[in-house]
Amino acid sequence: MGGSRLWRNRLQRGFIMKVRIEDTCTACGLCVDTCPEVFEMGDDIAQVIVDLVPAEHEDAAQQAAEECPVEAIIVE
Ligand code: SF4
Repeated sequence: MGGSRLWRNRLQRGFIMKVRIEDTCTACGLCVDTCPEVFEMGDDIAQVIVDLVPAEHEDAAQQAAEECPVEAIIVE
């Protein structure tokens, strides 16, 4: 019971996911289309625009990571 309460508190705080983009990114833009709240196109490659992924965007950020054609999105 204590464990599930802790888990719920972490979810409510909403900062349990971090993402970063490696320089193998090919700037295809897919992650920006999938989750524009977290990813944005930079000058050369995509970039992450939040320090911590808000809970409501975690699914989309995870999906973007899985769909990245070169696996350049690292979920931490
Ligand atoms: S999906 Fe991957 S390769 Fe495409 S822009 Fe995003 S990080 Fe770069």
